[in-house]
Amino acid sequence: MSPLVSVIAPIFNEGAGVDRFVTRLGEVLGDAALDYELVLVDDGSSDDSWSRIAHCALVDPRVRGLRLSRNFGKEAALLAGLEHAAGDAVVVIDSDLQHPPSAIPAMVRRWQDGAHVVEAVKRNRAGQGLGNRLGSRLFNRAFTRLTKVDLVDATDFRLLGRPAVEALRRMPEHSTFFRGTSSWIGFTRATVEVDIDHREGGASRWTLRGLFRLAVNGLTSFTSAPLHMVTLAGLAFAVFAVVLGVQTLVRWISGGSVAGFTTVILLLLVTGTFVLIGLGVIGEYLARIHDEVRARPRYLVQERAGAPETADRRVV
Ligand code: UDP
Ligand code: MG
Repeated sequence: MSPLVSVIAPIFNEGAGVDRFVTRLGEVLGDAALDYELVLVDDGSSDDSWSRIAHCALVDPRVRGLRLSRNFGKEAALLAGLEHAAGDAVVVIDSDLQHPPSAIPAMVRRWQDGAHVVEAVKRNRAGQGLGNRLGSRLFNRAFTRLTKVDLVDATDFRLLGRPAVEALRRMPEHSTFFRGTSSWIGFTRATVEVDIDHREGGASRWTLRGLFRLAVNGLTSFTSAPLHMVTLAGLAFAVFAVVLGVQTLVRWISGGSVAGFTTVILLLLVTGTFVLIGLGVIGEYLARIHDEVRARPRYLVQERAGAPETADRRVV
């Protein structure tokens, strides 16, 4: 039996894009003669995305739909897809056609040659503004540096073999960071280079706030380095405090006046800022612990469309 490839795509208010995406995938995978299923995860869209997904699932038995009960975010949608995919290999791809489906056959070949995780790395970055590009580069560098998990030029577009999918599913964390966790698990890896296309229809579904949260979650779930930095900054401050304190005392004892309103204001501002940032960093970790401890489900499924899971085909 030829291997089954599951393609998972998160969909949030993509409307007309759904049909375009399904058609395009069908063309590419059909040409490559791949046995596939397409799992479309509707991440609580408020437009007609779900009815379009349901329609696609009705006319094409290879398409399955999963509708989350509200917008849980892309990470949760990916997880839902991973948990409902039956394939021997699972490909995760954006539904806005920014990730070229034409790269999938090459990824599958790498997998058949023995790689367990095949990452698509960006050759270019079409459709990303300068700020976005700078921000993501800065984040990827910092993340790679702090966690030793290499994110430079990585995308969410990747293929995972069944063992890698099972490894990911065993990770219990509440706020997942797919790009990070799918690197963290290890396994034999390979890469294919892709050109990131311009978005087909609409604007990016990410808000600045969403991206900021993704970055903070990603970092806090992978490293406690920021906490150590706070400690180090505190130690540096202690040294500074001793030196300045002794100097001030000596001056005072020897009768010299200590010049100073400006100094006092500046010191207050600097220490205040440091203390608040330190508290904020601790707070981020506390919030994560809070999330994990509550252990609520990471997503909820409202309804499904298409054939039931072809779990009997799964080779574990
Ligand atoms: N997406 C999602 N839930 C969200 C935000 C985005 O499922 O809350 C999906 C979206 O439909 C798309 C993919 O995630 O398939 C990437 O989103 P987008 O293209 O907006 O991000 P960008 O390409 O700007 O990183
Ligand atoms: Mg996009």
